Amino acid sequence: MSLAAIGPRVLLRQLREVMAETETAQNRLDRIVVLIAANMVAEVCSIYLLRHGGVLELFATEGLNPEAVHETQLKVGEGLVGLIAGDARPLNLTDAQSHPQFAYRPETGEEAYHSFLGVPVLRSGHAVGVLVVQNRAYRNYTDEEVEALQTTSMVLAEIVASGELDEAARDVELEVTGHRSRHFEGLALADGIALGHVVLHQPRIEIGNPIAENTGVELERLDKGLEQLQTSIDQMFSRADVARGGEHHEVLDTYRMFARDRGWATKMREAVSTGLTAEAAVERVQSENRVRMGRQTDLYLRERMHDLDDLANRLLRVLVGRYETAAAGNLPRDTILIARNMGPAELLDYDRERLRGLVLEEGSHNSHVAIVARALRIPMVGQVPDLLDLASPNEALIADGDTGSVYLRPSADVEQAYAEKVKFKAKRQAQFEKLREREPLTRDGVRISLLVNAGLPVDLPYLSDSGADGVGLFRTELQFMIASTFPRLDAQTDYYRTVLDHADGKPVVFRSLDIGADKVLPFMAQAKETNPALGWRAVRMALDRPALLKSQARALLRAAAGRELSVMFPMISEVDEFRQAKLLVDEQKQFLLDRGHAMPSRVRIGAMIEVPALIWQLPALLKLTDFVSVGSNDLCQFLFASDRDHPRLAGRYDPLSPAVLTALRQIVVMANDHNVPLALCGEMAGRPLEAMALIGLGFRSISMTPAAIGPIKQMILELDAQEIENLTLNLLDLPDHSVRPHLQAFAQAHNISV
Ligand code: PEP
Ligand code: MG
Repeated sequence: MSLAAIGPRVLLRQLREVMAETETAQNRLDRIVVLIAANMVAEVCSIYLLRHGGVLELFATEGLNPEAVHETQLKVGEGLVGLIAGDARPLNLTDAQSHPQFAYRPETGEEAYHSFLGVPVLRSGHAVGVLVVQNRAYRNYTDEEVEALQTTSMVLAEIVASGELDEAARDVELEVTGHRSRHFEGLALADGIALGHVVLHQPRIEIGNPIAENTGVELERLDKGLEQLQTSIDQMFSRADVARGGEHHEVLDTYRMFARDRGWATKMREAVSTGLTAEAAVERVQSENRVRMGRQTDLYLRERMHDLDDLANRLLRVLVGRYETAAAGNLPRDTILIARNMGPAELLDYDRERLRGLVLEEGSHNSHVAIVARALRIPMVGQVPDLLDLASPNEALIADGDTGSVYLRPSADVEQAYAEKVKFKAKRQAQFEKLREREPLTRDGVRISLLVNAGLPVDLPYLSDSGADGVGLFRTELQFMIASTFPRLDAQTDYYRTVLDHADGKPVVFRSLDIGADKVLPFMAQAKETNPALGWRAVRMALDRPALLKSQARALLRAAAGRELSVMFPMISEVDEFRQAKLLVDEQKQFLLDRGHAMPSRVRIGAMIEVPALIWQLPALLKLTDFVSVGSNDLCQFLFASDRDHPRLAGRYDPLSPAVLTALRQIVVMANDHNVPLALCGEMAGRPLEAMALIGLGFRSISMTPAAIGPIKQMILELDAQEIENLTLNLLDLPDHSVRPHLQAFAQAHNISV
């Protein structure tokens, strides 16, 4: 009788017996292949498992030559087994040898077998092995048999994940259970070095027993779990703020849709019917979804599959009765948090005292969580795929937020090197602390104004602590980005007032909302754009939807009553846009005056220079503005036509290139001619070598992340402004990719810390 007839339940029962016995992992595998072959009336059953380096090794076989075990190896993508692992999809063939991918391995003796059915052994959406059955006859395996083999492979995945196969692995370790140290190159998202231990943001749900004792009971558990899941999502929905179109409304909507999705429930119920426990069934369907997610290139669909993945995690939690994230538990003192992705509010839930670092499988420079991590000064690395599969709780980990390197289970010498680096950095930090009260004067007496960039409530204490001259860029959109609902006029006013209070009389430059592109507001629908960075964003949006800017202007004017107010507009591309935006603010001033409100002592209105076109309109612009500030992040992206967040382009162009420096010099000359105060508030202001060049170009006011104030001040105290100007102005005509080497040589020759 074939497996299709008896169903896989008998086989699973037998497998459970094998797993309950204490014996070596190799023996267990050897017995499993015999069982599967017998149940499927197959002459061959083989298990291939993935080793480091993407090699699939024959671990056990019934029917092929036993000598081939631990000898036969295929790379992922090589032969039929490699094809299944690469695609993470089953392969069902009547005549395997006629398949173009068939790779003949004489040591196995498989030439006698024609039909072939192989399924991937999936773990978190990746194939960690392949399970194969073969027959001499040219037979066709039925859909039920494919399904049954997939269920069986699920059980194998649990054995692999449990780590008990390490002993069978002899000299090398299995990919998923490896204990050797691993090095990843991710994207550096927040400065600093973190040495600590792994904490999984979403604690892993271990499936103790994948095989059901009673299928009826498991079906009931699954149905109850689904019901509970639906209720919890409906409850989230009915919360007042959400009902009004608030927090993550769209995400919840998607959740609700999936939670009710009959297709999803049916797939899981089918998996239970084949003999799995409810948890194992959820994981099996989730695994397949992850495989599809990995293949999906459409970003929108990928996001939705991600939502389904989250939902499956929730369902698993409901089934085992564990709901909380790691934030609720006991954290080690040196927690390095690992997650696929997370929201900014989730990060804020953690005890800052215990959090050393954050590593995400996803995440980009402008993701909200990265912005919050920088504000909290938590070193962060993103874009480290597969980390969640490879890391286990409490394992040692180093996250280098300066370079993007991540070391899992670091070797002693790597750990030693990093411990030294941390010590060195701490020593330097202590030196910078001492400079707090020192005035940033160059050796030849030029006063440089050092300002900070800020935006989040956690930034506020630093406004007075950092020893800076004020706030050169207050990114008002950050308050909106982390809010669950649109901040109303009063909330905005209160916030801006608090900011001014913390600044303690020092100037603060508020930037009007810079939303659009990748700065997405959770409560505002955003149309899909082909080129979001060049799209409907910042001041463009503000002019088309003036209510937004009007309410913000009113909040700012009210908050600054009796004090000086500086406001600047982002992404100005032509003078007329500046005039229109300024007019909106002027109108609000009049509106408040007419109603007897107290006014700021002075209102200064400025423009950001971020769009190259503005450089050729400076004579007209500078007649209208009270100040200007260069947004070098965007200016460089547009000058080079190179996405500032594209990981592949990250090092392609250098802001220290003759083109950028020439453009910046032109801005300095024009601003000086028109006597208009000028600052620069992009990332380059916070890097010592870049800041040195800026001073050489004539900038006297730069705004940076607060942590950079110390190193930049140190550099300034060692610098001669006239000397650096002489050098920098001579570099503008070079044909070089970058003038960095010349500046480095200068710094070295003059003992300047950069
Ligand atoms: C810039 O573009 O340089 C800038 C300061 O603004 P943001 O980084 O917020 O776009
Ligand atoms: Mg910008």
